[in-house]
Amino acid sequence: MKNVISPLLHNIEMMKGAFIVYGGGLLFFFLLSALHRTFAEKGQKESSSVWSYAFPASLFKTCTSWVDFWHFLLTFIIWGPLITLVTGLISGQMLAQTINGILGPMPQSIRAPWLIISTQVFVILMARHFGVFLTHFLSHKVPFLWSFHRPHHSAESLTFLTSARAHPLDSIFFLGGSLLFAAVGTALVLYVTGTSLQPTTVSILAGWAFLLQVMNIFEHSHIPFSFGKLSYVIGSPVMHHIHHSAELRHRDKNFGGIVAIWDWLFGTIYVPKGHEDYRQGLTEGELGKNNPHVRLLDYYIEPFKYFWNCIVPRSHARSDRTLAR
Ligand SMILES: [Zn+2]
Ligand SMILES: [Zn+2]
Repeated sequence: MKNVISPLLHNIEMMKGAFIVYGGGLLFFFLLSALHRTFAEKGQKESSSVWSYAFPASLFKTCTSWVDFWHFLLTFIIWGPLITLVTGLISGQMLAQTINGILGPMPQSIRAPWLIISTQVFVILMARHFGVFLTHFLSHKVPFLWSFHRPHHSAESLTFLTSARAHPLDSIFFLGGSLLFAAVGTALVLYVTGTSLQPTTVSILAGWAFLLQVMNIFEHSHIPFSFGKLSYVIGSPVMHHIHHSAELRHRDKNFGGIVAIWDWLFGTIYVPKGHEDYRQGLTEGELGKNNPHVRLLDYYIEPFKYFWNCIVPRSHARSDRTLAR
């Protein structure tokens, strides 16, 4: 396994997608089971609960059940992300080879293994997270992108579920942005230093990818955890809470998520000094009954209407967020 960096970083998004697919599938199965039970057990005196009808314990106690369980878990946690990782790695390698072919190979500029690994990890992580920062920044500033990023911000309370709250088009843009920058960062560091991707680099990045997945959930919990002064480097959950604030004073801050350095450098960082009272959501005028995404259908469809209103503003009122730009 040589070039695993960029794919590793995308494992997070893929795992999130897999979670949604599996979760949605299970929910659909559960609802269908409830419907089937209604007709199948009609008239019976002792009917089972919907839960035990859909998931009877006896089916999970056979001699093959443990293999099913562990394989499912490993597919979700390891094999799925690994496939993504390999895909990303290959694209990064190909880009490096293309640059080599056009500009000619560079001599190896660093020799010490620890220096090679730390340089690769640092450059790739910084590039990947600059991709996250820039993609997120553009998602707030470009009307088309903002239209589809709004559903993430219309949540009025943060829970672990909010970490996966993203419109499909928003997810595609975020995935594309971070993948592009990770691949470019990988190609550049390999070409400029004249080194090849180290297995240890890949392992470290893999660990980081899983840490990010955990942190993404943590950032969207209700717990106002802070890293204190370290928050200027590592983004605290409390900083992402600010990012979800509906108030004007907090608007367009803390784009970087777990890596806060780019927000610090570009002046978009906001580290709360202490406890702050504020409501979470889109804007102060789009809360409660004015929230445009209370219904699931609106959550998916309204972004298209919102964008249409942005480009054809004559007969539609736009939110203060667009007008403020
Ligand atoms: Zn945002
Ligand atoms: Zn968020």
